[in-house]
Amino acid sequence: MAKSEKKLKVLFVSSEVTPFSKTGGMADVAGSLPVALRKAGVDIRVATPRYRSVDIFGSEARLKGGVPVYFIENDGYFMRDNLYGDERGDYADNLDRFAFFSRRVLELLKEIDFKPDIIHCNDWQTGLVPVYLKEIFRADPFYAGIKTVMTIHNIAYQGLFPKGEFHKTGLPWDYFTMHRLEFYDMVNILKGGLIFADTITTVSPTYAKEIQTPEFGYGLNGLLSERKGSLFGILNGIDYNEWDPAKDKELKYHFSALKPDGKYKDKSALQKKAGLEEKPDTPLIGIISRLADQKGLDLVSQIIRSLLGMDVQFILLGTGEKRYHNLFEGIKRRFPGKASINLRFDALLAKEIYAGADIFLMPSRYEPCGLGQIISLRYGTIPVVRNTGGLADTITEYDPKTTRGTGFVFERYDAGELFNAVRRAADVYRQRGLWKKLVANAMRCDFSWDSSAKKYADLYKKIT
Ligand code: ADP
Repeated sequence: MAKSEKKLKVLFVSSEVTPFSKTGGMADVAGSLPVALRKAGVDIRVATPRYRSVDIFGSEARLKGGVPVYFIENDGYFMRDNLYGDERGDYADNLDRFAFFSRRVLELLKEIDFKPDIIHCNDWQTGLVPVYLKEIFRADPFYAGIKTVMTIHNIAYQGLFPKGEFHKTGLPWDYFTMHRLEFYDMVNILKGGLIFADTITTVSPTYAKEIQTPEFGYGLNGLLSERKGSLFGILNGIDYNEWDPAKDKELKYHFSALKPDGKYKDKSALQKKAGLEEKPDTPLIGIISRLADQKGLDLVSQIIRSLLGMDVQFILLGTGEKRYHNLFEGIKRRFPGKASINLRFDALLAKEIYAGADIFLMPSRYEPCGLGQIISLRYGTIPVVRNTGGLADTITEYDPKTTRGTGFVFERYDAGELFNAVRRAADVYRQRGLWKKLVANAMRCDFSWDSSAKKYADLYKKIT
C-alpha cells in the first residue's frame, strides 16, 4: 500500500471469535481473517459478545498481530454456559440478545471514536446491524457514509422468530413487510441484513451460486438472485501457523511434504491413544464433525457396517444429534479395536486425528466452505468429499494415471456413491507409491488466508 493512501478502517462483527468463543467454523474465520487483513494493511477491529467462556481481563483484548477485540457486555444476556442455547433448545430471548448486541456495536463506534469505512457483519446474529445503521443511526453525521458487508456462513440459520417478537427489534412496523424483514409471516433477521447490506459475500464461489437456487437457498434464493450483482463468493482459509504439521506443539512427531515420515508415527500414537489396533498398513478413516444431517452422517450411517467389514479402521470425533450418538455407540460396541468413537468436543484429539488419519470423510449434503477438508490437506490426510459448496472448490479427484488431484469426490447425495469413493481411496492407499504422491499433492496445496484476505481487501476498496 502506498504511504499516501489512507488505511481502510473496518469493524468486523461476529457472535463468535476463536479463541474466545466457538460453536463452528465461523469462529475460526473471525479469529483469523482479521489477522490476515491487518497484515494486508487494513485497520481492522473486532466486536463480539462477552460470554462466560471469554477469559480475559477488562473489556478489550487482542488477536494475534495486535487486532483489537471489543467485548459487548450484558451479564443477563451473555454470561451463560452456551452461546445460543442448551439441550432444551435455543434460548428464548435470542432476538433480545442479538438485537441488543447489534445496537450496542453501533453505539460503541462513537464511544471509542472509531469511524470505520466498512462494517463487516457475519450471519444472522449481526443481521440487524445494517438495518439499524440505516434506520436509527443515519441521522447522526458520525455514521454517514459507513458501508456494510454481510457474510453468509450458513444460510440454513436465518434467525427466524414469531411475528409476536417483532417489537423486540425496536423497528417500526413498516419494516415488517415482505420487502424487508417479514418472511412467511415470521421475522427473518438474516433477510434484513441481506436487504440492507451494501454488499453480500459468502464463503466459497460454488456456495454463492448454490444459494441462488431453491435447493440450497432456504427460501432466500429469490432475494439472492436479485442481488447477484452484489454477491461474491470468497473461500475461507486457515491460519497456517496454527495448523502446521512441521511445528505443532500438540503433536509428538512432526512432518512436512518433503519429510512425511513423522505422519506415520503420529498414526501409531493415535491408534494407541484411541484404542485401535496398531496396524501401520491399514487405512485409518477419520471424521471430525458436528453430528448433524448437513454433514452427511445419514450416508455414513448407511455404509459404516459394510465399510468396517473391510480392512480399514475408523475414528470419529463429534457431538450433536442424539440419534447419531446412539448409532455410533452401537458401532463402538460392535467393532472394538477397529472403530474409535469419541462423542465430545476435543481440540487436541482433533489435531491428532488430522495428523494421524489417512483418509478424512466429509460427505456433506451442503457445505458453505468447510474447514475440515482444508485442515486435512494441510496434514496430508486425504479428503473424501461430496461435490458441493466449498468442498467442490477445494478438492479435486485424484487420477492415478496423471497423479494429479488431491482427494476423492462423489456427485450425488447417495450412500453407494460415498462407498465407492471410499473404496477408490482404499485402493490407491494400497499402492504405496501412488498414495505418497497423493499425500504430497495434498500437502502442497495453499489454502492459507493470504490470497482470500487479499480478495476481501480488494472488495472493501471497491465498495468505498
Ligand atoms: P461447521 O462450521 O459447519 O461446523 P467447518 O468444517 O467449517 O464446519 O468447521 C468445523 C470446525 O470445528 C473444524 O475446525 C473442526 O475441526 C472443528 N470441530 C468440529 N467438531 C469438533 C469436535 N467434536 N472436537 C473438536 N473440533 C471439532
